[in-house]
Amino acid sequence: MNRRDLIRTLAATALIGGTARYSTAAFAEDAGEAAFKLPPLGYGYEALEPHIDTATMTVHHSGHHQAFITNLNKLAGKVPELKTKPIVEILTSIDAIPTESRTAVRNNLGGHFNHTFFWDVMTPGGAKAPTGDLAQAIDAAFGSKDKMIEEVTKAAMGRFGSGWAWLAVGRDKKLTVFSTANQDTPHMELAAKPVIGVDVWEHAYYLKHKNKRADYLTAWWNTVNWDKASANFKSAAG
Ligand code: MN
Repeated sequence: MNRRDLIRTLAATALIGGTARYSTAAFAEDAGEAAFKLPPLGYGYEALEPHIDTATMTVHHSGHHQAFITNLNKLAGKVPELKTKPIVEILTSIDAIPTESRTAVRNNLGGHFNHTFFWDVMTPGGAKAPTGDLAQAIDAAFGSKDKMIEEVTKAAMGRFGSGWAWLAVGRDKKLTVFSTANQDTPHMELAAKPVIGVDVWEHAYYLKHKNKRADYLTAWWNTVNWDKASANFKSAAG
């Protein structure tokens, strides 16, 4: 690429901006009838600095999440429900999936759901604390926002190996905190609806924090999208 082409490319990139760099059009064409596409982040890979680093966000979204999408589009050939049923419905009744594909669907569809949810509950801006109904429900269930953060952090630290920690609305419509293993989602087993979720797989923090999960969690709380959490609570509790 000569200098003039480079300038042209940079200008085009600046003009397109936003989500264009996450385009999955080429992949969709290659896959023919692609049922799944990598959802764009609502912000850039660098946007959560210094709390979550650019290198981690890049590999996490374009590498790890993309792998679930690629696998799901392969699986969709064998498991037609993947093309027709809503994601949460499949996750809620995972035992309905034929045995030979069940673990693959559980891991890849769970991973797709969890990561899509995760990108949305982080933001570089917005409210710094829960408000309204969510704030009241947190105070009622835990005593304070800080106590709730302690509980979720404890669940995240207590998860041996890979998994997630959640603040969710349980079957009884009350806020609850728990963790899930691997890529299991709150819908599985507990039939809970997530409000906030944090990824505690090492790929979510190892590049920056190495083995220090606690340091990652401390940094991560600075990124929580409380407006989105409130919206999640509203739809889960309603
Ligand atoms: Mn992850």
